[in-house]
Amino acid sequence: SQELIQLHFLVIPMGSPGHYIPTIDMAKLLAQHGVQVTIVATPVNALRFGSILDQAIQSGLPICFLEFQLPYKEFGLPEGCESLDDLPNMGMTGALMQAYRSLQTQVEQYIEKLDPRPNCILADTFLLWTGETAKKFQIPRIIFDGMNCLTQMCNHVLYFSKVYESVGESESFVLPGLPDHIELKRSQLPFAFSSSHEAVIDFHEKLRASESEAYGVVVNSFEELEQGYVDEYQKVKGDKVWCIGPLSLCHKDESEKVQRGNKSSVNKDECLKWLDSQENGSVIYACLGSISRVEPAQLIELALALESSKRPFIWVVRAGHKTEKIEKWIDEEGFGERTKDRALLIHGWAPQLLVLSHPAVGGFLTHCGWNSILEGVSAGVPLVTWPQFQEQFYNEKLVVQVLRTGVSVGAQKISELWVDEDKSGELVKSEAFLNAIEMVMEEGKEGEERRKRAKELGKIADKAIEDGGSSHRNMTRLIEDIKNQANIGK
Ligand code: UDP
Repeated sequence: SQELIQLHFLVIPMGSPGHYIPTIDMAKLLAQHGVQVTIVATPVNALRFGSILDQAIQSGLPICFLEFQLPYKEFGLPEGCESLDDLPNMGMTGALMQAYRSLQTQVEQYIEKLDPRPNCILADTFLLWTGETAKKFQIPRIIFDGMNCLTQMCNHVLYFSKVYESVGESESFVLPGLPDHIELKRSQLPFAFSSSHEAVIDFHEKLRASESEAYGVVVNSFEELEQGYVDEYQKVKGDKVWCIGPLSLCHKDESEKVQRGNKSSVNKDECLKWLDSQENGSVIYACLGSISRVEPAQLIELALALESSKRPFIWVVRAGHKTEKIEKWIDEEGFGERTKDRALLIHGWAPQLLVLSHPAVGGFLTHCGWNSILEGVSAGVPLVTWPQFQEQFYNEKLVVQVLRTGVSVGAQKISELWVDEDKSGELVKSEAFLNAIEMVMEEGKEGEERRKRAKELGKIADKAIEDGGSSHRNMTRLIEDIKNQANIGK
């Protein structure tokens, strides 16, 4: 009977941890809601996605992979390079995106042969070609871009008001018509508004057009976190906006929290043992995400602040960008030796969820990538914010100004990501990091209240994903919507 026909989602993630991690979490969540999920993957990413979903699949959730080759050579990519964090330099982003475009034919051949066709395509926004595919087969396409409603609205008002065009480079200005007073400088705006590169501007125009054609949008956020912006965004987009996060909360046990795409560079038990030996709320966890490329000289300032704090800390030294230089400094200048009794240095990839959910962690120094912020919020931990690029400056405002669960480092140095080294401004000195760290960790009234707010927010996040919580309801609403589209269960 119709009742037995299962809803089928085709999930198409993009290769960047900040995008594929929440997308894969979403696949798990859909499967938990009884949806059959097929995930489009490429060889190396298939392993990464597989690690995130290992337990879910073993427990019998209806998830499978569709593996296609990515023609690395054809686009000048190193063998096995399938994710932004694998790129030798960010200049190759375009090549990676083009390689992903080559998946279109294979995906369409798959859909062509399938009967019945998938009921929904859930695709990363940046894979513009999925719009063409959806149109061709008349399948509703839901997009995901890894950001929040605040970002959507900031971009919306900037795009239509063009307010940034008439201000000087170092002047602050207010983004008009938003629920909060959000004041930024031009250099803090996403590339769509701060870049003069034709290709960047062109891509964002295409992105807008593609987004406006999508059937709906899923957001890794929860309504209680940014209600005003959710409301505003729904005014712009209509009701097909579903906040279903925090997605990372779909992983409940320790071993799942370690398997986040890239393999952890630290042994789980050793990491837990180290954390267990620290006092509750005493540890600062510093990690700048998966793709930011901070100069060694700048990282040294950050490291020196962690050292001067005299507090226990975990510092994640990301591999892949001038790693030798910073590792050499750690060794030769005695930093490793001086701090070894109270520091855990993670060289490469940290089990971030595992770390954040440990009671020893008292503060998270973050680059303000949205996943990191949400993971920190979900863990009930106050943040030290040091945004680098794209929407991270908006996210900082939300945390510091609106939620008041964080303290800004306050000094800016744009990461080298898409900026020339010599143009990226002065180094942020260790004092700036140290001041913010001290404010977050201090035992006084202000610190205490901030910690209380962060804890409270963590509980609200938990509630959002429980049965009857806002995100749970939205997930049900989304599935019902697609069922109606597909005439299933009627
Ligand atoms: N992450 C991790 N270990 C690391 C670095 C990052 O598990 O050493 C995860 C982090 O938990 C988050 C994602 O990678 O889920 C990074 O996404 P985010 O939006 O914070 O920043 P991006 O890397 O996209 O700038």
